[in-house]
Amino acid sequence: MTREQIIIDTSGPPAGPARKVADPKPSLLLGEHSLCPGCGEPVALRLLLEVLQELDIVQRTIGVVGHGCYGSFVRIMDVDVLQCLHGRAPSCATGIKRVRPECAVFTMQGDGDMANEGLQEVLHAAARGERITCVLLNNGVFGDTGGQLTATTVLGQRTKTSLAGREAETHGYPIPVADLVASLQGTAYVARGTVSTAGGVAQTRRMLRKAFEAQLAGAGFSLVEILTMCPTGWFVPTAEGPGYLGGSLEQTYPLGELVT
Ligand code: SF4
Repeated sequence: MTREQIIIDTSGPPAGPARKVADPKPSLLLGEHSLCPGCGEPVALRLLLEVLQELDIVQRTIGVVGHGCYGSFVRIMDVDVLQCLHGRAPSCATGIKRVRPECAVFTMQGDGDMANEGLQEVLHAAARGERITCVLLNNGVFGDTGGQLTATTVLGQRTKTSLAGREAETHGYPIPVADLVASLQGTAYVARGTVSTAGGVAQTRRMLRKAFEAQLAGAGFSLVEILTMCPTGWFVPTAEGPGYLGGSLEQTYPLGELVT
C-alpha cells in the first residue's frame, strides 16, 4: 500500500460510515456515570463489565457493592446487584454464592469500605476459600466523603485528615490488602493492577478475567486490587491524577500477580 492510498480525503463528507474500532459504551452500561472527571473507578467498572460479557456469564452474575463513590454504579450496571452495609460485601457475597453456587458472584468495594470498615470480612472469606471474586478499588482516600485518610493511604500522602502527609508515628503504616489476602490458604487468584496507564488497563482486564475464571473453576477465593485515580480527594489537577498515582500508591503497592 502506498502512502497516498491511506490518506483520508477530508475535503467532503465521508463516502460511508466509519469503521467501528471501539465500542464507546459497553452494552451492560445503562447510562452515564456521575463521578468526577479523571476518576479511575469508571474505568475499572468498564473493565469488569467487559470481562463478564466476554466470559458470557452476565445472566448468572450477581454483584455485591459496598459504599463509596462507585456505589452509584448500581444504577447503571445491567447486572443483578445488591448493596450492602459498609465492609460487609464479602459476607453477603458468601451467602449468595452458597445459595446459588451456579452464579458468578463478585464484590466491588473501595479501600475505605474493604480496608477500614470490613477488613475482617474479606480476610475471613479468603481464609474460608469462598468461591467469590472481590474487587478492591484502592485510591487511598475516602473519596465519597471528601478525601480523608484510609487504612491504605500511603506514607507522605496528603489527605483532608493528614494535611502534611501520612506519618507512620501518628497515623500508622498503610495496610497492603492484596498481600494480606495472598498470605491466606483459601486463595486461588490474587493480583494488583492499575488503571493509570494504557498498559495497566490492559493488564488489569486480564487479571479480572483470570479471577473470574478461578471462581468458575471452583478453585477458591479470588481478589483483584485495582489502584484508581482520585484527583478530587488527592487535591491534584485532574490531568495529574495518573502521574500522582504512579508516584505514590504504585510505589507502596507493587503491581502484579500474587497468587495464581
Ligand atoms: S471523589 Fe475521587 S473517587 Fe469519588 S468520584 Fe471523585 S475522583 Fe472518583
